[in-house]
Amino acid sequence: MLTPIDWHTHSTASDGTLSPAALVHHARDCGVEELALTDHDTTAGLEEAARTARQLGVRFLPGIEISVDWRRHDIHIVGLNIDSEDCSLKSLTQQLAEIRVQRARTIGTRLEKLGHSGVYEGACALAKNERPGRAHFARYLVSQGRVKNEGDAFKRLLGRGKPAYVATGWPALEIAIKAIHDAGGWSVLAHPLRYQLTATKMREMMAAFKTAGGVGMEILNGRQTQDETDRLTRLAQRFEFIPSRGSDFHALQR
Ligand code: AMP
Ligand code: MN
Ligand code: MN
Ligand code: MN
Repeated sequence: MLTPIDWHTHSTASDGTLSPAALVHHARDCGVEELALTDHDTTAGLEEAARTARQLGVRFLPGIEISVDWRRHDIHIVGLNIDSEDCSLKSLTQQLAEIRVQRARTIGTRLEKLGHSGVYEGACALAKNERPGRAHFARYLVSQGRVKNEGDAFKRLLGRGKPAYVATGWPALEIAIKAIHDAGGWSVLAHPLRYQLTATKMREMMAAFKTAGGVGMEILNGRQTQDETDRLTRLAQRFEFIPSRGSDFHALQR
């Protein structure tokens, strides 16, 4: 995890492998002083994490990582310091959950047609719900020896443009930003380098995020080189985005 401040992490409420309470314990053990839990499209883990953080004396920011569509790219917008009881945000997360249920079924059907049967059920069992994410599909495929590792699952099957990739009707950038701001939070563009955009498209995406009211941008996400951090720092300055940082923690290293 990223010390002393980590504003981007996942728990079992989405595709992380530690429960919200275990995540906060791990963060404390790593020396994290201020933590945000930012599960994909859900606020379900926030209450447990906040309670544990209070007990352990870790400063806690309730967060979320919302999936949006920008020109058919899946872009992630982190919301920090959100009120999870906000109606506008609640209605969006409900919509996102329905999208995830449908998408998971379609991914399952695609995999079935590719000769990988039972993966939808396996992914649901790992997620403990009906809306497993692609990471759950990847983990199940690994557990069955169908692929070497999670990265391989994305490269061969689940990644953008691959045979089991489902173009998802995620909401527009503006919708996510508005819901985050309505809930009193700050909107942060997550990991700009992960979208495989050309330099020109990256600037266009940042301009669109700025125009839609976006306020922050991650200049540090997980492991990255100094050159990458420098490049993101320059971009954040150019667009006057407040810099954010996080590990994007999902699982303990095996
Ligand atoms: P989803 O939100 O269901 O579309 O899944 C996106 C998640 O899949 C990301 O948050 C990561 O946890 C995981 N993921 C995406 N790309 C890769 C990859 N190449 N290798 C491993 N995990 C990945
Ligand atoms: Mn994830
Ligand atoms: Mn992300
Ligand atoms: Mn993330």
